[in-house]
Amino acid sequence: MSSSPRATQTPVPVSASLFERAAAIIPGGVNSPVRAFKSVGGTPRFIASARGSTLTDADGNDYVDLVCSWGPMILGHAHPAVVDAVRRAATDGLSFGAPTEAEIELAETIAARVDPVQRVRLVNSGTEATMSAVRLARGYTGRSKIIKFSGCYHGHVDALLADAGSGVATLGLPTSPGVTGAQAADTIVLPYNDLDAVAAAFAEFPDRIAGVITEAAAGNMGTVAPLPGFNAGLRRLTTEHGALLIMDEVMTGFRVSPAGWYGVEGVAGDLYTFGKVMSGGLPAAAFGGSADIMNRLAPDGPVYQAGTLSGNPVAVAAGLASLRAADDAVYAALDRNAQRLGALLTEALTAAGVAHVVQFAGNMVSVFFADEPVTDYAAAKASATWRFPAFFHALLDRGVYAPPSAFETWFVSAALDEDAFDRIAAALPAAAAAAAAATPEGSNA
Ligand code: PLP
Repeated sequence: MSSSPRATQTPVPVSASLFERAAAIIPGGVNSPVRAFKSVGGTPRFIASARGSTLTDADGNDYVDLVCSWGPMILGHAHPAVVDAVRRAATDGLSFGAPTEAEIELAETIAARVDPVQRVRLVNSGTEATMSAVRLARGYTGRSKIIKFSGCYHGHVDALLADAGSGVATLGLPTSPGVTGAQAADTIVLPYNDLDAVAAAFAEFPDRIAGVITEAAAGNMGTVAPLPGFNAGLRRLTTEHGALLIMDEVMTGFRVSPAGWYGVEGVAGDLYTFGKVMSGGLPAAAFGGSADIMNRLAPDGPVYQAGTLSGNPVAVAAGLASLRAADDAVYAALDRNAQRLGALLTEALTAAGVAHVVQFAGNMVSVFFADEPVTDYAAAKASATWRFPAFFHALLDRGVYAPPSAFETWFVSAALDEDAFDRIAAALPAAAAAAAAATPEGSNA
């Protein structure tokens, strides 16, 4: 994979010069790989501000935002209630390294929404949440092996990077140098949606598997919902074999329903990880589960986990304000907007004669250039991802900011209005035509 420069029609001289400056000091010019546009080519847009469903770049161009900071911004950008809460919290002090009442409220709010969660620990990122949940599962069971699924991404935890989705998939990496054999040795990687493979792993390693970690609905190889019965099957197998089921709801949590994917499907995990929406766009995340398991954490139990900025008052205020504002009307709007986006994608790609499947997991959406529904990472990788760069850039040039990778979910907000949809509808025919005209050779993906 290379990142040959791609001519964009929209002039972005300021972003281009910022990218050059960034590349001289920040590896790849970005602080998280997919932002660099490597698989689609061209100049990443440096964002100056955002409001509602609109991003404005440093050159003054506006875009309809279909990334939403990779999920968190369900209310849209700079929502007044959230900004207000952040301002008030900041006025009272930025960090104390001591407990606050608001942390209790956020933990209570999370537990009230997700039934199986009785205790919550706040952390700073989804990566920390999954890392801590895996450690706790090992500490609780006294076992070492963890099952994860190909194409699922759980943050850049050493043991969980093998065959991961998101940026690891975007860059076509099998895993990462720097992860030692020892760190990965206890990770069993299986195909997503394949219960037989899970049963076989439990048969091969009796009493050695601490847990199964899965995205509650996969969104990091594109959007791939669990097949009916998959999560329930994981529940059954883990219970039968004395292992824990870790539901990673960092992406789905508080987005696809008030109770995340648990609210959609009702399959209970033993441990949950959350991030994104629950922090309203500031750095906070959480993990939780039954009191019995969670109480094994320090200081009550022996499994160590800590953080200088964990439960940060400003991040907690943003999270609480976001969850309080996310009422039934917001969830109805998210579902409506996702369906409307999906219908527009289907209409334009069908009209252009491009083989495609628009996939949903609740209000998460993505499009695969494939003939059949995609149910695992092998099929996602086998799709015509070479059509994506042309599709993406045609949208971007027309003011629609889709995720810069064929392996990412598209995120809607409740703030998408008629103007935003008009713009998406106006941009899609040209984008679909660009996808139709693309060739495998012409792609830089
Ligand atoms: N788990 C899932 C399902 C995710 O989608 C992500 C990030 O996209 C993470 C974990 C890691 O979260 P973070 O990027 O906050 O470390």
